[in-house]
Amino acid sequence: IGDSNKGSLVASDTKKRPDGRAFDELRPLKIEAGVLERADGSAYVEIGDNKVLAAVYGPRELHVRRLLKPNMAILRCRYNMAPFSVEDRKRPGPDRRSVEISKITAEALNPAVFLEKFPRSTIDIFIEVLQAEGGTRCAGITAASVALADAGIPMRDMVAACAAGKADGQVVMDLSEWEDKEGEADLPIAMMPRTGDITLLQMDGHLTSDEFEQALDLAIEGCKIISEAQKEAIKNRYGGD
Ligand code: UDP
Repeated sequence: IGDSNKGSLVASDTKKRPDGRAFDELRPLKIEAGVLERADGSAYVEIGDNKVLAAVYGPRELHVRRLLKPNMAILRCRYNMAPFSVEDRKRPGPDRRSVEISKITAEALNPAVFLEKFPRSTIDIFIEVLQAEGGTRCAGITAASVALADAGIPMRDMVAACAAGKADGQVVMDLSEWEDKEGEADLPIAMMPRTGDITLLQMDGHLTSDEFEQALDLAIEGCKIISEAQKEAIKNRYGGD
């Protein structure tokens, strides 16, 4: 990732968004760690009107021989939308979209976890979207990282996720549902802010290369803000620095 400011935006060039945000503003964010009694680790994330729960089980012994890795743990993830989470009732059960999001979430978290510390084991992550308003895959990854930390699973860093994109001709941070649906492009990323490693990058729609760089810079900025809130949530749960 270059730190070039080529094509950077300044506030005076930009217009307010439908929800009143500036181009480089996140929706209101709330993160809480340790919200479920029976999981090994858990977290709750609200960003705008998204409400997402993550629960972690493990590391625990894996009995499925064909999945087992003798020298490391595997990380499995299930992303699920509640029937009442979206405007038109979501039919229960997995669909193409939730299978894809489950897969990319596991891939986004994998590089952060010291899987080699837990041979022959599994770490299972369950993400439940209770209410959706655009950007649930990012909210899910953000919640899952906090739940992994809450479970005491050693990690290189907590992965933070945020999208940027283009809506109404403007490159913006953290698309709302309306901006996601009506907008020109969506660029969700996940990263380890400590090292700068990007662990997920997807893109939907069209951006010029300058716009792509602006969007990537905004998404990275968003991840950094979210990362601070993740650390704060763990601090609030366990105290100390
Ligand atoms: N959405 C919906 N019904 C669905 C799937 C998605 O209403 O079955 C909405 C929901 O608000 C979601 C948004 O569309 O957040 C954008 O969905 P996308 O597939 O881009 O994933 P996300 O942005 O949530 O990661």
